Amino acid sequence: MKHNFGAGPCILPAKVLDQAADAVRNFNGLGLSILEISHRTPEFEAVMKETQDLVRELLRVPEGYSILFLQGGASTQFSMLAMNFLHQEKKAAYLDCGYFSQKAIKEALLFGQVNIVASSKDKGYNYIPLGYEIPEDSAYFHYTSNNTIEGTEMFSFPPTTVPVICDMSSDIFSRMVNVADFDLIYAGAQKNMGPAGMTLVVVKDTLLEHIQRQVPSMSDYRIYRDNGSLFNTPPVFSIYVAMLNLRWLKEKGGVKTIETENIAKAALLYEEIDRNPLFYGLADPDHRSRMNVTFKMYEPAMEQEFLDFASTRGIVGVKGYRSVGGFRASLYNALPISSVEILVSCMSDFEKEKLN
Ligand code: PLP
Repeated sequence: MKHNFGAGPCILPAKVLDQAADAVRNFNGLGLSILEISHRTPEFEAVMKETQDLVRELLRVPEGYSILFLQGGASTQFSMLAMNFLHQEKKAAYLDCGYFSQKAIKEALLFGQVNIVASSKDKGYNYIPLGYEIPEDSAYFHYTSNNTIEGTEMFSFPPTTVPVICDMSSDIFSRMVNVADFDLIYAGAQKNMGPAGMTLVVVKDTLLEHIQRQVPSMSDYRIYRDNGSLFNTPPVFSIYVAMLNLRWLKEKGGVKTIETENIAKAALLYEEIDRNPLFYGLADPDHRSRMNVTFKMYEPAMEQEFLDFASTRGIVGVKGYRSVGGFRASLYNALPISSVEILVSCMSDFEKEKLN
């Protein structure tokens, strides 16, 4: 058995993988694969509706918000949101809190002016900046709620009167958030939703009244809203597997239940990192992510040896991101606590081997 701590793929429960495999062979008993059916069939329209309903229910999305499924990954949102909401008269406020917020800023600059309200670049993005002003005349305020690469997460969101746009790619569905505090939430599917290829956008309808620029159809949020995300061919399979996965989450008890599990998983691993004399954590303890745990060894030459040791126990995907090095263990929703226990005992056994 493999224990997959990878950061990019969606870790899916076995039940979801079985159901997806069945649908690839024969979807709903139609004698056709899910990969072969038209997105205009009543069967797929039912999938679309159930997926939207599950997102609404699990995230407790209030009235007045639309749920959209787009292609292009979260990276396309970096430019698309600026194309829609950044215009000449106003600056957009950005919190520079990690690699992906930096990328979002770079794309926004193609469409207007950006005001970086605070940055944690000085310390390699190992903390979340606090105590900054967001000018009230900003077009919007953008931040990344969980920094997948650096392993930091925001646990309090600054109050502001300007529209709030948040990249929740790597912590959506992992914890309860108050959707009413946001005007637009976006997230690539491939962490806690489903296979890559689909991007979720939850947008307040009133925000869509602020689009001033001429926007190409495929980049216009209103087109997706007005066409029920069926303006062009949507990522049928990704949406279908996301639906199965969200059904699984609902059966488990929903986001509050998984949040309790995620807190326990992260606590277990951070405890071992802090206890074990071979390892140290990279993120400021107050801002440690529950989804992506980054750590290193005091003796870097030992890191490859630890990776080899871990792989003999079925542990995969713990190598750190290339620009950070060390290790990153991603603890997405479907990763069971038993896998974290295996990683923790592996770290402790490695310590015994090295220090005894
Ligand atoms: N934002 C965050 C927080 C991410 O973790 C990622 C990818 O890991 C992205 C954006 C980019 O997503 P995509 O690869 O779907 O474009």
